[in-house]
Amino acid sequence: MKIVFANSAWVNAAERLILRGGSWRSVRLRVRYGLIFHPSEGPVLIDTGYTPEALTGERRGRMLRLYGALLKPELNAAEQVLPVLKHFGLSQDEIRTVIVTHFHADHISGLSLFPKARFIASDAAWARVKARTPRQNWRHGVFVELFPPDFDARLDGLSSKPRIEARDDVLGGADLFGDGSVIAVDLPGHADGQFGLLFAGLERHLLYAVDVQWLLTALIESRTPGFPATLIAEDARAIEPTSAMLRRFVAAGGDVMLCHDPAPTSYDVTLSDPEAG
Ligand SMILES: [Zn+2]
Repeated sequence: MKIVFANSAWVNAAERLILRGGSWRSVRLRVRYGLIFHPSEGPVLIDTGYTPEALTGERRGRMLRLYGALLKPELNAAEQVLPVLKHFGLSQDEIRTVIVTHFHADHISGLSLFPKARFIASDAAWARVKARTPRQNWRHGVFVELFPPDFDARLDGLSSKPRIEARDDVLGGADLFGDGSVIAVDLPGHADGQFGLLFAGLERHLLYAVDVQWLLTALIESRTPGFPATLIAEDARAIEPTSAMLRRFVAAGGDVMLCHDPAPTSYDVTLSDPEAG
């Protein structure tokens, strides 16, 4: 089973906002999303990264426009989801499954591009989204206008998946395809319903830990940022225990990958924009 990640956009942030004891230097963060080539499920997307829908889309509400203006993400045209699929000889209609790790804009803004896909996500978190007002959802970093209108009908909830119990060196979670190849591991702290993905069939176990931290250094060196990062966390007190679990995973020989860490990894594809000179 092959897994690749691409970088949909860059976002600049002062290091001290995302790393305790960091400097005022600006860090250029990536906004990754992934693509699994699964032997029986076919191509499976892991989130969609940032797409124009989040930044210039007509359907954007006032708060989403404000959010874009504050963060100023810079889209990476060459590694937007559709050109990356094309690079691998795939069309958007061939995507039958999108795993949605959590509902923040930089993970879901391209969901409408995949009319034939089912969405594997936390049905518990989705039920809470539906029960909240738009204003309450903004406070959780969720902009409902980014979901396809039929998201509910196409949701394939985590709660229906068989559970795998944690064993010595393998983390437990929901077995997404019933073959142990991709396990959704709860990662409380950053966002309501956030889960990571454990790939146990690779040479070294890989855990895609999404947004547990922005920087790998913050995770490995126990440098979880304080205020204001804690302000935007769903459950700030859960970030440290979740990070500690990931450090144990690394100590046992596993690889952890994050969505936003700037350093390239062996799973990242690098495509250049044919339009750029
Ligand atoms: Zn997030």
